[in-house]
Amino acid sequence: MDKITIRNLTVFANHGVLPEERVLGQKFLVSAVLYLDTRAAGMQDDLNRTVDYARVCSFLCAQMQQPFQLIEAAAEHLAAGVLRNFPLVHRVDLELAKPWAPVQLPVESISVQISRSWHRAAISMGSNMGDCRGHLDAAVEVLSSDEMCRGCRVSSYLVTKPVGYTDQPDFLNGAMVLETLYTPHELLDKLQQTEQSRHRERLIHWGPRTLDLDLIFYDDEIISDERLQVPHPEAANRFFVLKPLSELESCWMHPVLHRTVAQLLARTEEPR
Ligand code: ATP
Ligand code: MG
Ligand code: MG
Repeated sequence: MDKITIRNLTVFANHGVLPEERVLGQKFLVSAVLYLDTRAAGMQDDLNRTVDYARVCSFLCAQMQQPFQLIEAAAEHLAAGVLRNFPLVHRVDLELAKPWAPVQLPVESISVQISRSWHRAAISMGSNMGDCRGHLDAAVEVLSSDEMCRGCRVSSYLVTKPVGYTDQPDFLNGAMVLETLYTPHELLDKLQQTEQSRHRERLIHWGPRTLDLDLIFYDDEIISDERLQVPHPEAANRFFVLKPLSELESCWMHPVLHRTVAQLLARTEEPR
């Protein structure tokens, strides 16, 4: 991706742990590398097709006025603000330096550097208790109105036969694809909170549930720890996951199996 770089924007602000820093304020230097596609702007010499770096500078200055204890926190705030307010920017590398940091030793500067970007996530939804459509619609509403998510697209809903534990009502299934600033584990937290808000109970493994939200893919990341496995380990075998997801992203490549969603769906049978 192309880059636009802002180096050492100088701002007077009041971040710091010490009370003196909060009262007196001090100098900070903000640097940002904005990753976006500048091709169209370059070919057409058109400001509307790129990010206006003057606006980014004044945005960063304004955001720096909200005081934080830590430059880590101020940097998170700035990076998320840039990504949310300048939609063409896909990723930002942000450095926040504190040249007058009160460490009582001669030091040129202390800084924090972070890199943040939009990530693509695929989520599968299922329900077979109560108002199934209402539960899926509620999940869509929660994620599409979350300020850490954007561009939420939703498949049609389909009725499927239960698998694993078959003595239970049919399911209503769907899929969602969105962009998010959450990390995979933060997104899992959000999915689990949403399940809880619909009174999800875990009584029988693979048993009836008001709402199940599973994280299927997160970019092309492979994650395996005690809380989270991505890609979801069963996704590649499940008609009820692949069918709705194929409506939205048939070409998404499974990062372990190296098969697209459409290819995986073609070798999966619809349970009857
Ligand atoms: P399955 O995961 O086979 O579809 P389930 O959805 O019924 O079964 P849950 O009771 O919803 O299972 O989740 C059990 C645990 O799975 C959760 O506590 C969660 O930490 C873990 N988990 C691991 N990977 C994922 C993932 N990709 N998406 C959602 N939960 C996951
Ligand atoms: Mg599940
Ligand atoms: Mg689940």
